[in-house]
Amino acid sequence: MSNPVYNFCAGPAALPVPVMEQAQREFLNWKGTGVSVMEISHRSSQYQELANKAESDLRSLMGIGDEHAVLFMHGGASLQFANIPMCLLGEGKEAEYIQNGMWSGKASQEAARYGSVNLIDAMHIGMDGIRSLVSESEWNRTENPSYTHFTPNETIEGIRYNWLPKSTGPIIADMSSCILSEEINVNDYDMIYAGAQKNIGPAGMTIVIIKKSLMEQMDFSHVPKVFNYSVQSAQGSMVNTPPTYTWYLASLVFEWLLENGGVKEMNKRALERAEKLYGCIDQDDFYTNPIEVSCRSLMNIPFILKDDSLNAKFLKLAEENGLSGLKGHRSVGGMRASAYNSMPIEGVIALTEFMQEFKRTHG
Ligand SMILES: *Cc1c(COP(=O)(O)O)cnc(C)c1O
Repeated sequence: MSNPVYNFCAGPAALPVPVMEQAQREFLNWKGTGVSVMEISHRSSQYQELANKAESDLRSLMGIGDEHAVLFMHGGASLQFANIPMCLLGEGKEAEYIQNGMWSGKASQEAARYGSVNLIDAMHIGMDGIRSLVSESEWNRTENPSYTHFTPNETIEGIRYNWLPKSTGPIIADMSSCILSEEINVNDYDMIYAGAQKNIGPAGMTIVIIKKSLMEQMDFSHVPKVFNYSVQSAQGSMVNTPPTYTWYLASLVFEWLLENGGVKEMNKRALERAEKLYGCIDQDDFYTNPIEVSCRSLMNIPFILKDDSLNAKFLKLAEENGLSGLKGHRSVGGMRASAYNSMPIEGVIALTEFMQEFKRTHG
């Protein structure tokens, strides 16, 4: 067999190899049905069983209790950007959006189409270009907001909260790029959502974990039925045909996570990967990560080369060495290594060895 390719793409992202292999084995004949899982009714008893198992596996992985409903919704995180204010941004009220990067900014722009938004700029850029998070005590807060929205891990900038903001209103978190990578107390959140295509499965589905009491505060009178959290919850996320194949792959990822020690173990692996990669970047100024150490992401690790003109060569040689998806986001430039739960430490070792060799030959 040829050497493996390690895929560092930010999203859609690499899935665990054993999950892909199982999906491949079952592709034409799922559980002895003689047909593919994507060819059967979402209302069939076999699919219902899969759907229920996926939910209970996710509940045990994250410690989700009865206070929260778990929904498997259509669309990506961006759909939730609009869905949340559409249901929750009450008239005469204001929502708080804590901005620490591109996605939280986009979420706030969508909310501003529905009502009043207090945009709190929580990203500080120092004279040296190093980005950090502004401490909560300096935020200009809203008294009793409709809700407070924040993004624990900003995928593009690679900046992460290591604390949970407080609010006098409901707390809503976009965890698209960090869900299932570190242990959290779900009861601290009124709503968590995450597009599937980073840490859960292929694109096309969004996990929504929502407090039942929050759904009761929402106004669904003008909301399309498929976007109505209460109706979706009552109907097992099957108001209409759900993205069945993505849901299936997510169910395999949840099983893989449970077999591999769950979120606690994923966090341990993420810390090992991050230590290795940041350690390599920080050796000298050939590579730089522009994020203050305490808020560095464990999942998305951007780095720039001292000599920008070497970018194309770095990427080309990396690709030739089986390291793909390293090009940085167009707004940031440089490189970005996204290492989600599926990334084995061997991938990060291969990347750091390549980076050392590139530095030796181009430094
Ligand atoms: C990728 C990402 C999004 C956008 O997801 P879509 O499914 O493309 O809408 C939003 N928020 C965060 C934090 C992301 O990483």
